[in-house]
Amino acid sequence: MSKTRVLVIEDEESIASFVAMYLRKEGYEVDLAAAGAGGIKLAAKRPPQLVILDLMLPDMDGFEVCSRLRRESDVPIIMLTARDAGTDKVVGLELGADDYVTKPFDPRELVARVKSVLRRAQARAQAAAAGPLSSGDVTLDPERHEVLVAGKQAQMTAKEFDLLHYLLMNQGLALSRQQLLEQVWGYDFLGDTRTVDVHINQVRKKLGNAAVIETVWGVGYKLK
Ligand code: CA
Repeated sequence: MSKTRVLVIEDEESIASFVAMYLRKEGYEVDLAAAGAGGIKLAAKRPPQLVILDLMLPDMDGFEVCSRLRRESDVPIIMLTARDAGTDKVVGLELGADDYVTKPFDPRELVARVKSVLRRAQARAQAAAAGPLSSGDVTLDPERHEVLVAGKQAQMTAKEFDLLHYLLMNQGLALSRQQLLEQVWGYDFLGDTRTVDVHINQVRKKLGNAAVIETVWGVGYKLK
């Protein structure tokens, strides 16, 4: 079996080589790029299974790189940032990053995130192979990344899609906010389960009466 390839896009050489060293020790193949444009080119030439992306790059910011990579593939992306603002985190994840690590970080923590993100990506690929899911008048097709509400295509952000996907896979079960955070966002977002509430409300709006997401008091949510 060939090695899992990770592309690290980071202009700070000390961090890049540090991260590469830890990943190689874990058996990953590592490609390095020191700027956004070079990283995008390298990703096209040697498609990675995961990208570690610095937010502050000399030529363009990580958000831009992230959305350009996302136009070409759904490769999992972990963002690195020196900033600590929760808003950046939400924006990063909305643009399609799968996880987020704030500098300075423990490389073992980053390796753990890499493993967890790759695991989730694999689970997603398996779910996609299992075919479309539906509830009421809502159908979600993981392979085509499409949601039909009463026969019409609904526009959803990446996280809204993943959230609805997880609810559909667990239809009829009460799911806690913490569980949804872990399964859909995949990081320990201690203390702010409101992210889940915000996304649930968005999804509800887009579903209208076509399917019902119930609030389960003291627990979380359930798709009927
Ligand atoms: Ca940087």
